[in-house]
Amino acid sequence: MNHTLYKCVDCQKAHCQFCDGGLALCTVCKGAEATLTSTCTGAPLSEDQGRLVQAGKLDFKDGKWLRFGQLAREFCNKRLPLAVLKSNAGFYIGTFDEEGPCSRESVEYFPTKTLADKALESGDWTQKPYP
Ligand SMILES: [Zn+2]
Ligand SMILES: [Zn+2]
Repeated sequence: MNHTLYKCVDCQKAHCQFCDGGLALCTVCKGAEATLTSTCTGAPLSEDQGRLVQAGKLDFKDGKWLRFGQLAREFCNKRLPLAVLKSNAGFYIGTFDEEGPCSRESVEYFPTKTLADKALESGDWTQKPYP
């Protein structure tokens, strides 16, 4: 769903950050500007979520939370959503673009795609550190 952006009614202020400044603030998810997700979550963001959205690591789109690969940002300078990928060593959590795999984000390799999907869903995996 779309954000319900705050609008002033009968604004009498000489300088209003909403009317003049064009500040976008959602009255539903309480996101504003940098913490505004692509589509509305329908509920207020938690402090953690707000922080991650602001840092460009998390987004909410089409009814789903999207997490972005941190190493993809560092290595490829791209914001790519996390996905389950496969290599010879097994399944892992990483990112890819049109050209192919971009980054491996999880320390773990998973023996099956189902296990990797579950880990991605629950967040129960270890982020590979940036060297
Ligand atoms: Zn919203
Ligand atoms: Zn106003």
